Amino acid sequence: MVRAMKHIKVEEVMSKNPRTVPGELTVKEGAELLKKNRVSTLIIEEEGRPVGIVTDRDFVVKVVAEGLPLDTKLREIMSSPVIMIPHDESLSDAAKIMTRRKIRKLPVVKDEKIIGILSENDIAKISPDLIALAQEYANLHRENSEREKIKEYVAGKCEACGQYSLRLTMYKGMLVCPECLDAMQ
Ligand SMILES: [Zn+2]
Repeated sequence: MVRAMKHIKVEEVMSKNPRTVPGELTVKEGAELLKKNRVSTLIIEEEGRPVGIVTDRDFVVKVVAEGLPLDTKLREIMSSPVIMIPHDESLSDAAKIMTRRKIRKLPVVKDEKIIGILSENDIAKISPDLIALAQEYANLHRENSEREKIKEYVAGKCEACGQYSLRLTMYKGMLVCPECLDAMQ
């Protein structure tokens, strides 16, 4: 691997075929799905829209450590909203988002679809130092993080036009869809 990290795109490294499940599944059912599908992340969907994310770590930190019953719904332990990254962004930007957001899994979006999941482990396999570098970078740039041009997506309703999108981005304090962003810039 000789290319610099900023030239490796997240879609080259992510795991494909993300597993999407309804939020009313129980944590027991969710854990069984992780095992059966050999994945570590579930995207939680309501009415066909991603509303949260549950990772293997949530089962330890939220279910076991807090002694939640096994019939707890996945929507009660999911992290929300879902923070995502465009498919053609770089691994180093992905590392920066993970560090800044304190998350270890990053769904990858192409058009209006989640096409994969990038994990901190996926990054570490290619560049063991990248997460640590991102941490250092975040510390250095804490004050002016607003000015950083790292692209991350959030799922939800556009605060300008009200339309649902997987690709909302923050612009002048508002979460807006790509169309409204174009119009505002
Ligand atoms: Zn809009």
